[in-house]
Amino acid sequence: MEQSKIICGKTHAAAIRNAVKKRVCSGAAPHLAVVLVGENPASLVYIRNKQKACEEAGIHFSLHMLPETATQNEVLQTVDMLNADKNVHGILVQQPLPSQMDKHAVVSRIDPIKDVDCLHPQNLGLVAMGQSTVLPCTPSGIITLLKRENIEIAGKHAVIVGRSDIVGKPLALMLLNENATVTICHSKTQHLQEICRQADILVAAIGQPKFITADYVKCGAVVIDVGINRIDGKLYGDVDFENVIDKVSHITPVPGGVGPMTIAMLMENCVKAWELQNV
Ligand code: NDP
Repeated sequence: MEQSKIICGKTHAAAIRNAVKKRVCSGAAPHLAVVLVGENPASLVYIRNKQKACEEAGIHFSLHMLPETATQNEVLQTVDMLNADKNVHGILVQQPLPSQMDKHAVVSRIDPIKDVDCLHPQNLGLVAMGQSTVLPCTPSGIITLLKRENIEIAGKHAVIVGRSDIVGKPLALMLLNENATVTICHSKTQHLQEICRQADILVAAIGQPKFITADYVKCGAVVIDVGINRIDGKLYGDVDFENVIDKVSHITPVPGGVGPMTIAMLMENCVKAWELQNV
């Protein structure tokens, strides 16, 4: 197995977080406020990782916890309070929200300038036009990985399996902005294997462990595995890594691929939001 095939997201993320830290050193610090409703165990892990990254980068971090039974109004009031607080520069509402909540209403309530997850409709509209200052964390982590690895995007056929609002859809827009030819697939897509086998860049954002096997991969393709699936305490991607490794030119591992980049891009968005609010 050639090491160079395996894209080390951890190393790239560390470099980005270091650069972020240098920007923070020049005076007062940014402040990221995270809103958590309920106590989803996976969310608690993600939040701990974000808190650790903030502490390392010199970014203030605060956690605003509401019970699982909180009303939508209570969550909106928390967002309003953080919007009004001049000492808070970034707001993130941890997903998933309990089923009684309208996640679009909650996300749309965040002041767009503090929307460090880049989920507000105004920011996503700007992403579509290639005009946004902050970018959705996971998609921008993927594009940054490709660029830092000198992988050509323009003119390539990128196939994305998954059309979620946080990964698949914004990534498709961003790859299009980078001049890729983009195909988005989902659970109703017919002939999925055939389409995936046409990909120069194949992105799996499905949420099903080891779904993508060698039959889905063209020889020499770049495979980006977004999936994080926990089984008996162990993490698995959406790609069957061992099965496809001999076919690919590059591949991201799970863990240590896209995940660390998502957090690094969040740190970058926090600093960008802070800089924009301090001009
Ligand atoms: P969602 O559940 O929101 O979306 C999954 C997508 O996969 C949907 O579009 C769904 O289609 C599609 N899909 C499901 N089954 C199939 C199938 N059999 N064939 C084709 N398409 C299918 O997930 P997310 O986008 O939020 O996350 C995807 C994965 O990435 C998860 O494992 C998640 O944990 C992980 N993740 C990792 C991040 C990181 O930083 N590494 C960040 C965010 C997510 P349809 O729309 O038709 O239902």
